Amino acid sequence: MTGQSLKKCVLIILDGIGDRSYEQLDHQTPLQAAKTPVMDELASCGANGLYHAGHLGQALPSENAHFVMFGYDMSAFPGRGVLEALGAGIRLRRKDVAVLTHFACLREQGGILLVDERKPVISEHDVSRLINEVEEFETHGVHVRFIQTGGIFGIILLSGDVAPYITDSDPFIDGRPLIEIEPWSDFKQDKATGNTALALKEYLVWAYYCMQDHPVNRSRVSNGQLAINGFITQRAGQLKEVTPFKQCNGLRGLSIASGIVYLGLGSYTGMDTIKVEDTVNPGEDIAGRIKIAIDNLDDYDFIHVHTKAPDEAGHTKDPEFKMRVIESLDSGIGKAIHPLMDDPEVLLIVTADHSTPSTGPLIHSGEAVPLTFYGQGVRRDAVMRFNEIDAATGALGNVRGSQLMYMVLDHLDMSKLHGIMDTPVDQPYWPGEYQPFRLK
Ligand SMILES: [Zn+2]
Repeated sequence: MTGQSLKKCVLIILDGIGDRSYEQLDHQTPLQAAKTPVMDELASCGANGLYHAGHLGQALPSENAHFVMFGYDMSAFPGRGVLEALGAGIRLRRKDVAVLTHFACLREQGGILLVDERKPVISEHDVSRLINEVEEFETHGVHVRFIQTGGIFGIILLSGDVAPYITDSDPFIDGRPLIEIEPWSDFKQDKATGNTALALKEYLVWAYYCMQDHPVNRSRVSNGQLAINGFITQRAGQLKEVTPFKQCNGLRGLSIASGIVYLGLGSYTGMDTIKVEDTVNPGEDIAGRIKIAIDNLDDYDFIHVHTKAPDEAGHTKDPEFKMRVIESLDSGIGKAIHPLMDDPEVLLIVTADHSTPSTGPLIHSGEAVPLTFYGQGVRRDAVMRFNEIDAATGALGNVRGSQLMYMVLDHLDMSKLHGIMDTPVDQPYWPGEYQPFRLK
């Protein structure tokens, strides 16, 4: 068909698919080494490039990268603690501080606490017994509450005269000392920040002593297991003013994902969300999510389809396993994608939020990820394969940060001619929801 324009965008995010090269894969990345005929077909019939949501070399968390991909400025980012809290259905008041946390095995040595095991395994029953012991605390006029979001994970919610500008206590590596809770240097004089650092510190110390001698831990220690006796914390956040997704981008947005942080991102930005579950088969999972996207195309203009599988495979630090997960995803995409490929109104984008290296200590890394645009009228370049190396020779070149959403709007014929002001806000899309001119 010709003469018809693209009207909808389906953005498939293969979380953390970018990687480094490995000797055991003939010096290729897991994505290069994987057999991916479906993604290769999209790449060979589309425009390709390399994407990074921030600065090249910067290791971005998923939620920050997604926030930018969804057309937002990082200054409006509320912190992962807030997003996870919203995603878990926790009601936050405007000034509450939400800190991401989980239980860990800590050991005292010379007055400091070392992290023996960051993510211990414990039964639901035993973790509930520990939570009962440390659920609520009050100090310096700050109310502190632990709220479980699943297993050993949760949110520490601080209410009162509080602020989120404090350091994490999580060193991210087993065997390292816990980090002191301090105000950020620019907030050293800020009373609410000082108050928050003090209150959280006192809570963490109190919780450590409460749990240290808890019957759950006495029994663990007598069985030769490490005591699960403390919390480690990171990425405190607080709600901010944010423009709703529809107003920000002119598109009705839907996010289909399994992680609660994406539900939280949806709740924060006003995008609708559909929560899906992960199974042991990432290919079937992504096929199911693409089918849900197809079923919802009439009601939305921008649909985010997410899989965490490549990122989690990267965290196992086994490049060959990650390669196999990618192959499973490709085959799953192949089972469901054809109605979208055949739809003359759909712009399909396949990319990732960041790279996740399959070796070394980094959780995420700062290399760019492959980006493919596919749809009617999209330029076709000479790239034949979907991977980090071939994509570098594509027609899209290097795409950064919020440029991605501008490119979506452009392909949907919604890009505003720069300088036009049809609304008081200089939004990137056109036409805006303007006020009709009134005679009186
Ligand atoms: Zn990610």
